[in-house]
Amino acid sequence: MTVHWTQHRFAGGVLALDTANTVVLRGDPRGFDRLEDPSEIVRFAAAASRHRSGELAERRLSVSDAEAIHPLVIEMREAIDSLFRSMVADGRPGPGALPRLLRACAEGLDGHDGIGGAGPFEGPGQGVAFEAALAVSALSLLSGERAGRLRVCPNCRWLFMDRSRNGSRLWCDMAVCGNRQKAKRHYRRRRATGEERRHE
Ligand SMILES: [Zn+2]
Repeated sequence: MTVHWTQHRFAGGVLALDTANTVVLRGDPRGFDRLEDPSEIVRFAAAASRHRSGELAERRLSVSDAEAIHPLVIEMREAIDSLFRSMVADGRPGPGALPRLLRACAEGLDGHDGIGGAGPFEGPGQGVAFEAALAVSALSLLSGERAGRLRVCPNCRWLFMDRSRNGSRLWCDMAVCGNRQKAKRHYRRRRATGEERRHE
């Protein structure tokens, strides 16, 4: 089944986090991987080119051979998730998480030129290899200021970048996760009231 790469799936706010969030309910038996089929990398990259056009300075992501880069993309994704999730939880990278990410990013950048200049993606307007862009995006999150803005959504466990002025954003996407939590609270309240009545 093909994935609909809707705007909500780009709630991470940064290419690296959107990619980490292609695993749904990570660590849960109900979880699944939206990039399990390598051809989804092509479709994800096309959607990310639109949703992340600001970060990419309007350059389009290109995927030369989805089958070939699939294992690398998955390793980069897992390295990104592991490092930044541990940074949100503990304020520092988990054991081995930083070298793992740097190795994966080095492999993603290997053989790809044309990244650099004023901003990482500023420059000639041709496409940029997905794995190279993913590496640059992940490395950009290591700066102290950006790392301090990383959050984990308490509803869906996705990673996201909090760009709110006072840094108090709670949900990856208020319209989806914020509303689901509100509905859950409402349901719990109603159930609690119902139970109280039964005890009367
Ligand atoms: Zn969420």
